Amino acid sequence: MVVLPELPEVETIRRRLAPRVEGRVLARVQVLDPRWPRPLTPRQVSAALTGRRLRRLGRRGKYLVWELDPELYLVQHLRMTGAVLYDPAPEPAHVRVRIALDDGHRLVFDDPRRFGTGELARGRADLESFFAARLGLEPFDPAFTPSHLHALGRLSRTPVKAFLLDQRRVAGVGNIYADEALFRARVHPLREARRLTRPQWRAVHAGVLEALSAGLAADGASIDDYRDPDGARGSFQEEFLVHRREDEPCPRCGTRIRKLTAAGRGTYACPRCQRAPRRTAL
Ligand SMILES: [Zn+2]
Repeated sequence: MVVLPELPEVETIRRRLAPRVEGRVLARVQVLDPRWPRPLTPRQVSAALTGRRLRRLGRRGKYLVWELDPELYLVQHLRMTGAVLYDPAPEPAHVRVRIALDDGHRLVFDDPRRFGTGELARGRADLESFFAARLGLEPFDPAFTPSHLHALGRLSRTPVKAFLLDQRRVAGVGNIYADEALFRARVHPLREARRLTRPQWRAVHAGVLEALSAGLAADGASIDDYRDPDGARGSFQEEFLVHRREDEPCPRCGTRIRKLTAAGRGTYACPRCQRAPRRTAL
């Protein structure tokens, strides 16, 4: 079982790292795995990054955005098992990138499954077009409203869980937070987006923000491989309301939580609180 870090996990990594790396110069960059920077070569990426100062460590959706001076952006996706570690000791077994900072500290990108990626954007316009092709609004953007969701979903036959997982619609929500949001909203994961009423979109909107906020407050969820820059693990998995709680009582009504498949992913829902659409057996 693998779990993609979602918005709260990536944001936790960003918050932990930012104060330690912002303002630092990347003194030496070793890219050890040719798969990581494709289509560029390790040598090209290393040459582009070395000697630049990190102005800001940002995040967009599930991407970490390393903003460098002179202007260059490293857009990093951790995928399933990637971690950014700060001064790890001993060094982990699957190091793909090693960065020496000008203050003597060290960053290591570790990734046993090797699905993580690092891509370069040469300027602000390049960065914006990269994200425009891949990501919808950030959930904490003021423009992300119930009406915005309703407008996106109004004509969509996509089941609402798959709708939430589509990064081009909502940036940063993955399997855990979609389940937790839909339970909070009392909406079944397989209900078609176009069938949701305005009050249901309001509830989904609130559910997404509540679930993500709870995840952020717990420093993310740690299942399997997610680690923060110090190798520590978050605690949100202890607060899941339905996700991975098959056969446990619903925290609202006590009915046994069921597991189903939605958007090809293991999905958890309460059959009583989240009424199934007709002809869909839970
Ligand atoms: Zn229930």
